[in-house]
Amino acid sequence: MGIIVCQSCNKAIDVFEGEKVTTLYAKGNCDNCNTNSKSKDNK
Ligand SMILES: [Zn+2]
Repeated sequence: MGIIVCQSCNKAIDVFEGEKVTTLYAKGNCDNCNTNSKSKDNK
């Protein structure tokens, strides 16, 4: 099992099947970060 963690907010955003336990860091922002930055841009 693997986990994908957001680099920006350090939150686990996704999991995937796998033989090993793996943690991957997502490049860019997750939905949470995108929402936050979007609301900032809109202002
Ligand atoms: Zn994030």
